[in-house]
Amino acid sequence: MPGDMVISLSGVGMRPEDLQTAGRHEFDTVLEQVWSTHRENRQGMVADYIPELSKAAPDDFGLAIATTNGRLHTAGNVEVPFTIQSISKALTFCLALELAGRDAVLARVGVEPSGDAFNAIVFDPVNKRPFNPMVNAGAITVAGILCEALGTGAFDFVMDRFSDAAGRRLSLDDAVYRSEAETGHRNRAIAHLLLANDVLRVPPEDALDLYFRQCSISVTASDLARIGATLANMGENPVTGRAAFELRAVRNTLAVMFTCGMYDYAGNWAYDIGVPAKSGVGGGILGVVNRQLGIATYSPRLDTRGNSVRGIASFELLAEELGLHAFDCTNMGSSFVSTLIR
Ligand code: GLN
Repeated sequence: MPGDMVISLSGVGMRPEDLQTAGRHEFDTVLEQVWSTHRENRQGMVADYIPELSKAAPDDFGLAIATTNGRLHTAGNVEVPFTIQSISKALTFCLALELAGRDAVLARVGVEPSGDAFNAIVFDPVNKRPFNPMVNAGAITVAGILCEALGTGAFDFVMDRFSDAAGRRLSLDDAVYRSEAETGHRNRAIAHLLLANDVLRVPPEDALDLYFRQCSISVTASDLARIGATLANMGENPVTGRAAFELRAVRNTLAVMFTCGMYDYAGNWAYDIGVPAKSGVGGGILGVVNRQLGIATYSPRLDTRGNSVRGIASFELLAEELGLHAFDCTNMGSSFVSTLIR
């Protein structure tokens, strides 16, 4: 019987009803354990292809869990600001679905994993769309869709919605924005190809400017966890009660995060960790446990794919300790379907 199931939270073997009262303590303990397990891991390199990103302190390491009932649990450097980078791609995709509709977005950007690096210059050979919105080509296309829908107000709209999701007013890291705008020539090349492929329908510089700005929004690990909790909570921030994202768009966004959010590591991530997630070269990873948690890690040393080394290691351990994987035996599936099975 599901009610009698003993789940192996950090090996303690607590029953779900125990967690109701002991939840805070257990999350804090698990985060602390994961943080101390990986704090000495110094593998990977801080990104420097956007010169301003190289200024990040390589040893900073923070972990945060935000729950859909509004609580926050943390370990380490969870208030250090860093830029959201590619994690913004999941959120702008969600906004584009709301503004332009699923079919119009799908006509311009696919939902297939590319198996390629985030900045690869590859398109679907049949219809010339970018493979998915989580790689640069797809995200620049999505930025174009937002520019079409919102004109010059596009960035303010994005900033307002990201802030609603985080539950506090976020700001732009102007130095990172300028650094990326000055050096983002590969992204410029991608934008011009998107124009040639007729999936970008605004001037490339407009879409690129929105893209560079959205990537340069400054967040902390606590903010990211709260944004994750908003996604987990059907688009509504659990603390403020403000709706940041549309319900149906959230489902579509989580699905694409699950299959494409970690670039050419997406398959391994789904296999080992099994929650929708999105990483950024600023060092953040955002994970979502639907209807339960937002999880964030911050550690700026990256592997060769551009994913945070300690972030991946921490998610692996958290998924194991908390039974997070979508196909873990502790995840009982849809309660609606359960009622039909009985
Ligand atoms: N702004 C970065 C870029 O376009 C985002 C990449 C990332 O976070 N993976 O290169």
